[in-house]
Amino acid sequence: MSSQLTTYITLICTSGVLNLYLGAYVFAKRQQYKKIANFFMIYTASITIYCFASAFSLTADTIGQLKLWNILLYIGMAASAPLGLLFVMHYLGIKLTKKRIAAMLAIPAISVLMVATNDVHHLHYKVFEIDPSLGAPFVHQEIGLWYLIHGIYTFGCMLAAFLLVIFRWRETAKAYRPQIFALSIGQLIPMSTAFIYLIGLTPEGIDPVPMVICASSILYLWVINRSQLFAVMPIAKDAIFNSISDGVFVLNESLNLIEFNQSAEKMFPSLNASLFGMHFESVWKGLSETAFPFEIKAAESLQEIELKNGLLERVYQVRISPLRHGSENKGLLIIFTDITEVKSLQRKLEHQAYYDELTGIFNRRAFFQTSEQQFAKAKQMEAPFTVMLIDIDHFKQVNDKYGHQVGDQLLKHVVDICRAELKKNMLFARYGGEEFVLALDGMNMEEGAVVAERLRRQVETSFLHVDGNRISVTISSGVAEASAMQGETLYQLLNKADLALYAAKHEGRNQVKTHAAEQLV
Ligand code: GH3
Ligand code: MG
Ligand code: MG
Repeated sequence: MSSQLTTYITLICTSGVLNLYLGAYVFAKRQQYKKIANFFMIYTASITIYCFASAFSLTADTIGQLKLWNILLYIGMAASAPLGLLFVMHYLGIKLTKKRIAAMLAIPAISVLMVATNDVHHLHYKVFEIDPSLGAPFVHQEIGLWYLIHGIYTFGCMLAAFLLVIFRWRETAKAYRPQIFALSIGQLIPMSTAFIYLIGLTPEGIDPVPMVICASSILYLWVINRSQLFAVMPIAKDAIFNSISDGVFVLNESLNLIEFNQSAEKMFPSLNASLFGMHFESVWKGLSETAFPFEIKAAESLQEIELKNGLLERVYQVRISPLRHGSENKGLLIIFTDITEVKSLQRKLEHQAYYDELTGIFNRRAFFQTSEQQFAKAKQMEAPFTVMLIDIDHFKQVNDKYGHQVGDQLLKHVVDICRAELKKNMLFARYGGEEFVLALDGMNMEEGAVVAERLRRQVETSFLHVDGNRISVTISSGVAEASAMQGETLYQLLNKADLALYAAKHEGRNQVKTHAAEQLV
């Protein structure tokens, strides 16, 4: 046997032994490596078969022996590429159905059958014979159609596995990059060698792939020992980390930034890897040009923050949670949840609960809530407190003549006039229908009557122009002041204002009436 051949066999056997060792090592620790171990063990087993069959074929001296080793070699080699791809997919957290896995392994099964029955159909090799010039174990082969299909598929699987790993590089945490590096190079070595072999640049009659596969095995061994490859499926965890819609920042015990996910990057476009290692306060200053508003400490907390994201004002819920390992504090998670939509809905509902939809002023509920407090305070301070009820005169006729829609517009028109006349501290609300109420904190009845008269005059002299019509209405008001006597309720006070309003209506409308002592309460 030539020394060159011995070197080939030694290299191939080294690959075989290393793969056997890799498979056995993972088998011994399979409990720790969970599901992923199975794919890796089958993968290494297929490469081991490939390597040893390849080594034995180099010791063959008859065409019969060569063909037999070649069938065995195909069992390992044809399966190894899709198994490698399956292992990578599993490692990256890409789930596959049993049917898909079976479909992926169908081509290698056909290839083995094709090689085993090649003498009948010559579809895999047109010619497969001992090399006439070099002699056994070198083979002269001319490839057939199935060889091409098999070659393209094998190469495609290796390329797919390589690309899948490479595409994950960017979103993989620094600590796990050696794994990505080892996996990608581990796939690249046999892939590029297979390519060189397929285009005929390697010594004829010898498949160089099993010789270089030992380099991939060494890489895998290195990374298994260095960073616990498979132990926790870190890349799959990374994929989850990046797929959640909350922006997550991971800080170490010194509150330095060690990781963030893709959602955080979207929320804070200036966030980038150069900020790793910086204290979170400084990172935050760079991101928002403000100091971080909450205390960052190792205790669970939940707050809200409003931030500008581009031109948009967004509301975030900020959760700070300690990262503990046993009783040891390992750092912090700061999680940003975008609650802008929830918040705006909440604000809308709150608005609907307290404001009148048509006119935009306070509704009856809001009026009572606020005026009860004002009234109680005024009583306590013995300050004057006056209320006014306003009712639009003959409003029904407006509706009947111009329609309900114009009626609505007129209601808004009256409200706008009143608002323009009123001061901020005057509590103005829609009491119901075409009636309004006003609480005048700190004012007596005479001052209230002045306000009422001003409103009456403004409404009477302002016109609403709709569809060529010039419409005007008048209002009647009843004003009443809280009695100096303690014990009067807001309802009793409003009742007094209502009696005064009734008097105003009774005496011809478009006028202001104050509650007189002789009117019944
Ligand atoms: P008065 O001078 O005695 O107050 O006569 P009025 O017609 O204003 O009084 P009445 O209580 O008989 O009628 C009030 C009308 O106001 C009846 C109702 O259809 C109308 N109205 C109440 N709320 C609304 C509203 O939101 N929009 C419109 N367009 N009309 C309303
Ligand atoms: Mg009315
Ligand atoms: Mg009315």
